Amino acid sequence: MSDCLFCKIVADEVPAEVVHVTERTVAFRDINPQAPTHVLVVPKAHFANAGELAVGDPVAMAELIDAGHAVATAEGHEDGYRLVFNTGEKAGQTVFHTHLHVLAGRDLTWPPG
Ligand code: C5P
Repeated sequence: MSDCLFCKIVADEVPAEVVHVTERTVAFRDINPQAPTHVLVVPKAHFANAGELAVGDPVAMAELIDAGHAVATAEGHEDGYRLVFNTGEKAGQTVFHTHLHVLAGRDLTWPPG
């Protein structure tokens, strides 16, 4: 999608600190980190949210979660990390290109706000 920020990051038209790339995903650091490790993993193809990705390309969804695990492990957090999809405005989604938040490096409380 031409006006999608994360599509532009995938296409290298907007700068981002990319930390991991797979056939179907790109992972980059969140510009407003909420934990010492805060990485977003996105599918290269545009889907608006996690549900649409799961239905539209389940292989990419599996690859997204695998990439999230790989990022957390590479940064030394295999003992504890959180994977989050904010799905829909009521859940706090602000960018409507599916993204998996990978959060780690501090105590993560439950329930989230
Ligand atoms: O789940 P939500 O849609 O709120 O997450 C969007 C995330 O994208 C935010 O954590 C925000 O900091 C991040 N972001 C970014 N780079 C941008 C714009 C937003 O990392 N240029």
